[in-house]
Amino acid sequence: MCAHAIQLLRIAPHVFQCPVPAPTLPPAFSTNTYLIAKDGEGVVVDNGTDDPDAIQALVDTIRSAGVRRVTALIATHHHRDHTSGLPALHRAFQAPVYIHPLDRTRLTWPASDAAALEDAPPALSCAGIALHLRHCPGHTHGHLHVEIPGEDVILVGDHLAGQGSVWIGPPDGHMASYFRALDAIAASGCRIAGPGHGPVLKDAAAAARQLKKRREGREAEVLGLLAERPRTLGEIVGAIYGDTVPPGVRLAARRTVQAHLQHLLSCGLAEREFDAGRGFVYRLPNQITLSGRAPTAY
Ligand SMILES: [Zn+2]
Repeated sequence: MCAHAIQLLRIAPHVFQCPVPAPTLPPAFSTNTYLIAKDGEGVVVDNGTDDPDAIQALVDTIRSAGVRRVTALIATHHHRDHTSGLPALHRAFQAPVYIHPLDRTRLTWPASDAAALEDAPPALSCAGIALHLRHCPGHTHGHLHVEIPGEDVILVGDHLAGQGSVWIGPPDGHMASYFRALDAIAASGCRIAGPGHGPVLKDAAAAARQLKKRREGREAEVLGLLAERPRTLGEIVGAIYGDTVPPGVRLAARRTVQAHLQHLLSCGLAEREFDAGRGFVYRLPNQITLSGRAPTAY
């Protein structure tokens, strides 16, 4: 196997998963590209490498699946580990790159590649296979799910992971929206979920419910910490994670806790006030502040 050989894993009769090495967050070291292929026609979802050799290997792999014509390239969301290879695939296949308009504005592509971009339509077809592109914000404002009911598959980008959980970072990430996105996965009726990283999940609804439970558990943990005493974001992150996570992951963990705090604020389950020495301090509603001052509304 050459250094850039790309695996083509069949996950449904006409849907394939291709893990492609990409710069992303541990524990993942690759981003999944998905190929829907039938009767010589193909649709490709996500690609996160700008390594020309890896792109050529992927193009060869797609052609080896009998695809003569790629009619659409889809980005589930704007993050570089899902989009940086799409301009090269556009040049190879002359297919438009569909992305939600809210995420289109966040792309950091060169201007010369902007002509490839088009707003994602609600539905596409690949040789008669219906693809439904659902706008489900959460991980980003313009995040898409690609539902392929005829294949019993839902491609969920970074809303589920083959292993572990995903990060939700404000202001682009929004926890209440993410909870709704997980509900949408569970309600889709599709059995198999194709995540952006890691192996497929054979029970999409169970995986979505499990991840929602995990996030709800984290919110309960945050509320428990606030019940002990008011704390800053950094103090909450320290209490939850200690020194157990590497620096790159720690930033993602911090932003996810921040998303939980914003959610708790919006639900009225927590409040915050600004302390000149500590910055924003979070506490339960009506909790006596350390300074003894009356709570300040935000
Ligand atoms: Zn992402």
